[in-house]
Amino acid sequence: MQIFTTIADLRHWRRQQHATLGLVPTMGALHEGHLSLVRAARASSDLVAATIFVNPLQFAPTEDLAKYPRTFAEDCALLEREDVDILFAPSATEMYPTGAETFVDVPNIGSRLDGASRPGHFRGVATVVTKLFNILQPHHAYFGQKDAAQVAVLRTMVRDLNLPVDLRVCPTVRDTDGLALSSRNRYLTPTEREQALAIPRTLHCISQSISRGERSAVNLRDHLHQCLGKAEGLRLDYAELVDAATLLPVETVGPGTLVAIAAYAGTTRLIDNLLLPETEAQP
Ligand code: AMP
Repeated sequence: MQIFTTIADLRHWRRQQHATLGLVPTMGALHEGHLSLVRAARASSDLVAATIFVNPLQFAPTEDLAKYPRTFAEDCALLEREDVDILFAPSATEMYPTGAETFVDVPNIGSRLDGASRPGHFRGVATVVTKLFNILQPHHAYFGQKDAAQVAVLRTMVRDLNLPVDLRVCPTVRDTDGLALSSRNRYLTPTEREQALAIPRTLHCISQSISRGERSAVNLRDHLHQCLGKAEGLRLDYAELVDAATLLPVETVGPGTLVAIAAYAGTTRLIDNLLLPETEAQP
């Protein structure tokens, strides 16, 4: 695996490539969720590029930028093992030199769900992903369903700006106990980790209610809030039933409805969701 840290070197490499390129953008501290994206890219692109960049633009001053886990050597070993061709791991000043002032904003969708709780977050995400697309010029780019709101923002951005890249979304990878894998899970104490399991358990309950025929978003939302309200140690940020593309609330659940949860276990913010497939209203 070749490692690039400058845009100039990466561009030089890119100009010599004519095969299809699949891109997996990450912030590092890699786990099986990230690796599932790498494997999806490996399966359908000739060349696979991963990026590791903890993007300061998507963190608010009060958030965990400084303590975000950084495990670069382990990450490189994992990516090597998955046969990744190149890794782009720029510094913050390489990506945002002094004087940089241009942003990509998806103002409506980007201010819903996580965008409401974390103002400016999706502007940071949309800006860095646009820059990575421009620098790497991938044919395909792989993102996780776990970050469903991010997917909605990026799909909108790609559509609105006619970006020549095909977004591919891969299923959420979970631990054996059901907790969605996240780089932030390593912040959790054993007790908090136990308490966090209320999130996938609640999604499972909601999925069963929908399978039994419940379609009223009001009833399901009440159910969501009741389950999460009772969950010891969790502080709810949001729990909503929305349209997966627009992130606007739905009245009746059906194909394309997203059941999305964000909650804090201790000081760690966790997100998870359930997407009702487009073809049938059964998760
Ligand atoms: P991050 O490093 O957290 O920015 O995540 C990089 C990519 O990995 C994003 O597209 C995430 O949605 C995806 N990802 C994170 N966790 C998971 C997971 N448990 N399953 C699948 N994809 C994931």
